[in-house]
Amino acid sequence: MHEQTLAIHAGYEKDNQKTMSVPIYMTTAYDFGSADFAASSFNLEQGTDNVYTRVGNPTTAVLERRFAEIEGGSASLAVASGMAAIFYSILNIADSGDNIVVANQLYGGTVTLFSQTLKRLGIESRFFDINDIDKMKDLIDENTKCIFFETITNPSIEVPDFDAIVKIADKNGVLTIVDNTVATPILCQPFLLGVDVLVHSASKYITGQGNAIGGLIVERKNLSEKIKDNSRYPHFNAPETSYHGLVFADSVVSSVLFTFRARMILLRDTGAVLSPHNSWLFIQGLETLSLRMKQHTQSALAIAK
Ligand SMILES: *Cc1c(COP(=O)(O)O)cnc(C)c1O
Repeated sequence: MHEQTLAIHAGYEKDNQKTMSVPIYMTTAYDFGSADFAASSFNLEQGTDNVYTRVGNPTTAVLERRFAEIEGGSASLAVASGMAAIFYSILNIADSGDNIVVANQLYGGTVTLFSQTLKRLGIESRFFDINDIDKMKDLIDENTKCIFFETITNPSIEVPDFDAIVKIADKNGVLTIVDNTVATPILCQPFLLGVDVLVHSASKYITGQGNAIGGLIVERKNLSEKIKDNSRYPHFNAPETSYHGLVFADSVVSSVLFTFRARMILLRDTGAVLSPHNSWLFIQGLETLSLRMKQHTQSALAIAK
């Protein structure tokens, strides 16, 4: 299916009321029916649906499924802002003492997050020149957890050499995380270029109306093959204390490891959850995204000429 079709239909199974428009579920909690069911839900035996809105909500789930399909990924996680999406994408894999290799041209908020806040948490950011990718490989060591860059840099509108970066990343078994905010999946689908994880600010083109702040993390299909048994990523391969020693990579969620862990560890513990109302606004925005991007592109070309 084309993105335009997915943007209107994907990820929504009509509920009992058969509403054509996706309903807004303004609820914090859900009826478990029995204490046993509640216990198994909290032990992740029921998947992630409908435990508590901090970690999942039916309206937000439509946005997440729809957006993952439009990007051609396997799953996505919606959060309260683009900055929360970026922060979680890093915290999901890096601890104090680790480092990340990041493009020298990035959105200003991302630069301060990487160079100031992550630094205070003990995570070092090593900046590489996007016009000299060859030098980048010297920055990677055994504590490097990802290579982070933007599809179209904001604000300098440059496009890094994806092939060269992905080649170095894959050779080293390092994840690539790309901020696809400016391109949107309508102009570029970085998963087709071999990237592993995408982050987005939904606050820009996705809302289209400037009416809500939000963010998304998307993982590519079969990402677990790169993570499983990869010694760089103990977060997915070692027993998780807060889930009674569960190893995510060996569990039922192994096909959506990255977003699952971000949801059930980071969102659970730090709570930058998207309001279901804002999820609904982004669902409305997605419906017209392809039309708006076409017009933005035509206008930009006319101005450039
Ligand atoms: C705006 C923006 C962000 C931050 O997103 P918020 O939703 O404002 O938190 C991150 N990356 C890029 C490229 C952006 O343009």
